Amino acid sequence: MSFKVPRGTQDILPSESWKWQQVESILREVCEIYRYKEIRTPIFEQTELFQRTVGDTTDIVTKEMYTFMDRGNRSMTLRPEGTAPVVRSFVENKMFGYPDQPVKLYYQGPMFRYERQQAGRYRQFVQFGVEAIGSADPAIDAEVISLAMEVYKRAGLKDIKLVLNSLGDAESRNAHREALVAHFTPSIGELCKDCQSRLEKNPLRILDCKVDREHPLMATAPSLTDYLNEESKVYFDQVKNYLAAIDIVYELDPNLVRGLDYYNHTAFEIMSTSDGFGAITTLCGGGRYNGLAEEIGGPSAPGIGYAMSIERLLLALEAEGKSFKQGPELDVYIVTLDEAAHRKGFNVLNELRSAGVRADMDYMDRKMKAQMKSADRFNAKIVIIIGEDEVNEQVVQLKNMTEGTQEKVEDANLIAKIKEQME
Ligand code: ATP
Ligand code: MG
Repeated sequence: MSFKVPRGTQDILPSESWKWQQVESILREVCEIYRYKEIRTPIFEQTELFQRTVGDTTDIVTKEMYTFMDRGNRSMTLRPEGTAPVVRSFVENKMFGYPDQPVKLYYQGPMFRYERQQAGRYRQFVQFGVEAIGSADPAIDAEVISLAMEVYKRAGLKDIKLVLNSLGDAESRNAHREALVAHFTPSIGELCKDCQSRLEKNPLRILDCKVDREHPLMATAPSLTDYLNEESKVYFDQVKNYLAAIDIVYELDPNLVRGLDYYNHTAFEIMSTSDGFGAITTLCGGGRYNGLAEEIGGPSAPGIGYAMSIERLLLALEAEGKSFKQGPELDVYIVTLDEAAHRKGFNVLNELRSAGVRADMDYMDRKMKAQMKSADRFNAKIVIIIGEDEVNEQVVQLKNMTEGTQEKVEDANLIAKIKEQME
């Protein structure tokens, strides 16, 4: 019997995880600059939370959720996305009562969707996202978009574009909905089964269909832009003005709908335009969801947020040929030549580590040459060599690998000497 990682998941090995850590530290830095605070919610939630918020007609809810009955016979779902759990927590913890509004949160962690595996599409993937809840100021829409762009900029991505749309308010969406029903009803038989059920439940979702994407009815479908009422138009114009004011360039796409049901007004995606990136080009998506908090039993609290996966960011970086720089792994590697030296080496190692020096030694009883090779692979700046003489004389040999020098150092002076050479 042999075991494999489940389909659509991956092990992130030490040869890759350091890249993840670099990206994660960029994310944290940007959030600090924009004053977004981390929130951590459970990996699973009541199934109904996602059914109500993400929406009964979305791909996520109809096909992609990992749902199970727990031992108390409650239906639970591994979270497929982060917004619903965050807004659930916002309502449950009465964050709407916090003195500083909007409440600005970020999260990062695994999400689960039962998808067909392909490049950039996993069944477990790590999403980073932010939510600003409590303000309907169009400037905060621009802030969230700017934060998203800043993340990609700091990560070193160049070939990206921002695509923007407005879904309007409820009135605009209702007017558009009627137009969609009128447009699709006569030939609905030509579209897939999912679209046929979407026609009644949520015709807007038809525009986001992955099966019928190329059907001629799609291109001629009534555009939301033409159905925005005055208020929605003004709001959208303000968002655009704020973006222009901070030099954020965007493309308008009236067919940009987004995956979840509760979006209104601003919707956006950032895509990779790099040739090497393949079929899936969306790096992140976000939008405004003014009705969401109310939908799950809270007070009215307008919100906006976005989410991206770290997997796709790393793929985009690779497609652009951006390489990460990995610094030296170790400051000091200790080479020991016999058993007494090994015991002394172990004490020295402990002293170094207590002083905050990154250090390691051989535990495989290898020959000096093999130990020196390890020091080399770890890119150690300093190698300490201890043999019989060094033990007797209470000294060590200190080899500075960058300068190519070697000197005898007394045990008592070792830490000071190492610190000096590390500067
Ligand atoms: P898509 O149209 O690609 O399926 P989506 O509308 O399902 O995207 P969202 O739910 O908005 O995507 O998720 C936001 C972001 O999360 C995406 O832009 C992408 O970066 C990432 N993402 C979504 N699904 C996956 C997945 N299965 N594997 C890796 N990343 C994903
Ligand atoms: Mg999807």
